[in-house]
Amino acid sequence: MRFEFVTVKRIIFGAGAAREVGSLAKGFGERALIVTGKSVERAQPLLSLLKASGVSSVTFAVSGEPTIDAVVRGAQLARAEHCDVVIGFGGGSAMDAGKAIAALMTNKGDVFDYLEVIGRAGPLTQPPAPCIAVPTTAGTGAEVTRNSVLASPEHRVKVSLRNRLLLPKAAVVDPELTYDLPPDLTAATGLDALTQLIEPYVSPATNPLTDAICAEGIRRAARSLRRAFEDGGDKAARADLALASLFGGLALANAGLGAVHGFAAPIGGMFSAPHGAICAALLPQVMEANLIALHERAPHAEALRRYDNVARLLIGSEHAGAAEGVAWVQHLRAHLRIPPLRRYGITTSDFPAIIEKAAKASSMKTNPIALTAEELKEILHGAL
Ligand SMILES: [Zn+2]
Repeated sequence: MRFEFVTVKRIIFGAGAAREVGSLAKGFGERALIVTGKSVERAQPLLSLLKASGVSSVTFAVSGEPTIDAVVRGAQLARAEHCDVVIGFGGGSAMDAGKAIAALMTNKGDVFDYLEVIGRAGPLTQPPAPCIAVPTTAGTGAEVTRNSVLASPEHRVKVSLRNRLLLPKAAVVDPELTYDLPPDLTAATGLDALTQLIEPYVSPATNPLTDAICAEGIRRAARSLRRAFEDGGDKAARADLALASLFGGLALANAGLGAVHGFAAPIGGMFSAPHGAICAALLPQVMEANLIALHERAPHAEALRRYDNVARLLIGSEHAGAAEGVAWVQHLRAHLRIPPLRRYGITTSDFPAIIEKAAKASSMKTNPIALTAEELKEILHGAL
């Protein structure tokens, strides 16, 4: 056995942990660029904390998933304002933007030198400016991943800036920041977290460390998703989901993902649909298609036993089997009122383009079995 596990140097978890961000930032410098989602208002308490710690700040908002242009502008602003540290405060978009901006502050030249797919995918040569990631949703785990997903509207794709140097200096995960998330966002981001625990668990690139993390994360997400959806103020459920999200990030960064994320990349590039909602719509269909394909073409694959384990963790019964796990996820998707993909304007005429791009997506390479174009089409039909 040989494996490698890479993550951020420091993870601070707990209700109220965000109050430590001021002193943490002070350790990296005097002036911070705070990258937020579309509402800068939400970062007001953070601005006060920084001020109290003697750190001045400038804010930079990204609305929706960050574009390449937005992070280039963010890096220009940070340099012009002489910022020493970047704080990504928000959902996956704000954290990914913060990580990319920190990297572009020190790695001069053209952003396309570093981008995958539409760029030259060259390595970053300079250590990024220090970055602190503070999630305000419980879904992406972007606080502990080494890529930044950026949109290129003119290419209609989403591409990654990927390098272990992108790992933030610190991840501060405070469940309190998620207490006021509305039910629809709780559902979509929570199901993204669950997907990011199940896909690495059945991936061929798994290792004992990611296995342990995934198992614990799946158990917590399963017992708390409905509770947090129904009562946003359920603190124990919110803590479970914040942990599940963090664990998903740790797992995916070290064991890869699967077909749900293979689809999510092109769909997110072609349509204006939130990442979590896309994953939530696809998860049960992909689980089912993988099980059928494994039974047909790889009946002795370890992934089949792993899907049985997933079911046991989800349902909390030693006797559950893989098919019951799929049914459980289908019920959960219905209960959490996850909209089907057609809600985002996707029609069957888009399937060939989606399938062509999904088949080449990096996450598809760690799906437990290679799916045929016909199977990929079935999955989309089921999620439409
Ligand atoms: Zn995801």
